[in-house]
Amino acid sequence: MSADCIFCKILAGSIPAKTLYEDDEVIAFHDIRPLAKVHFLIVPKAHIETLKDCTTAHQALLGKMMLLAAKLAAEQGLVGYKAVMNIGREGGQEVFHIHLHVYGGGPAA
Ligand code: 5GP
Ligand code: ZN
Repeated sequence: MSADCIFCKILAGSIPAKTLYEDDEVIAFHDIRPLAKVHFLIVPKAHIETLKDCTTAHQALLGKMMLLAAKLAAEQGLVGYKAVMNIGREGGQEVFHIHLHVYGGGPAA
């Protein structure tokens, strides 16, 4: 938990989010500025800043995030979609709490 982190605030319930899925390790919620008709984020509950901070200790968690992307995408009716992680400021990352974007279904309304 990091006091200044927007995703930690969502995890703590102090900022609302449209949650699709939650368990003891991860949460998934819809992106506030969707890039497509369906756009959600899969976020681990642990505050890990970027993929660059991950080690083999995070291997199972990262695999779980990918498989959850496929499961939730199917539940959202997506046939094809993107699963993207932005890494570092130069990689387009704005929120420094690791997350996997999943989006598809055509342009956002
Ligand atoms: P990044 O650029 O770090 O990979 O993506 C961060 C994503 O978080 C962006 O797509 C942005 O729209 C989303 N986001 C930022 N703040 C909030 C928020 O308060 N609620 C939700 N649901 N999404 C957010
Ligand atoms: Zn955080």
